[in-house]
Amino acid sequence: MAYLDTIAPPDVREVIGKSERLSDVVTHTFPASLRRRYEKLRAYPDGLLVFADGLCSFNPVYGQGMTVASLEAEALRTCLEGGDRGLAGRFYRAAAKVIEPAWQLSAAGDLALPEIKGPRSLATRLINRYVARLHRVGATDVAVADAFWRVAGYLDPTPALLRPKVALRVFTR
Ligand SMILES: Cc1cc2nc3c(=O)[nH]c(=O)nc-3n(C[C@H](O)[C@H](O)[C@H](O)COP(=O)(O)OP(=O)(O)OC[C@H]3O[C@@H](n4cnc5c(N)ncnc54)[C@H](O)[C@@H]3O)c2cc1C
Repeated sequence: MAYLDTIAPPDVREVIGKSERLSDVVTHTFPASLRRRYEKLRAYPDGLLVFADGLCSFNPVYGQGMTVASLEAEALRTCLEGGDRGLAGRFYRAAAKVIEPAWQLSAAGDLALPEIKGPRSLATRLINRYVARLHRVGATDVAVADAFWRVAGYLDPTPALLRPKVALRVFTR
């Protein structure tokens, strides 16, 4: 509970403080987000495709791995409709497009934590400051929280977070 005081908003802390603990605290072992850029290779072995977490595994806190795997399956179906000639290259390029928004949200988002090592472009720093504010507002504003989860869940494209009706609430509340 002392540690929780340092990370949880007061209302979350209060609910947990009043709750009954059902088990020991457990952690999930997730070392790091990892993306392998197979689309940049020039040659591929026949009959082998890397898929899902093998292509990219995300910080599970964002809950995107299965969504991305499903979208990769759709991308593979579209690629197979064009036959199997050059399949690996076409699939990895299509998969990279599917992966990109989740990678931006989770890997770039994790760079908001000062202890995470990695280069931070100006765009990443600006977006992370905006998303941090969006999270704070979204804690009590359902419309803003909904906008975030619709993007995280791939129902809306990432720029939807900057739509005027969302941005106005983020900046004024
Ligand atoms: C704690 C946690 C929470 C998550 N929450 C969410 C969520 O809320 N929403 C979401 O969309 N995603 C979530 N994910 C991500 C999601 O689970 C993964 O992205 C998804 O399972 C990846 O599918 P996969 O087939 O690539 O790998 P996996 O599901 O890991 O499947 C790989 C399989 O291969 C087997 N295997 C490994 N090595 C061998 C071997 N040598 N021989 C034979 N079999 C082997 C493993 O036992 C496993 O069954 C979460 C992940 C974690 C860790």
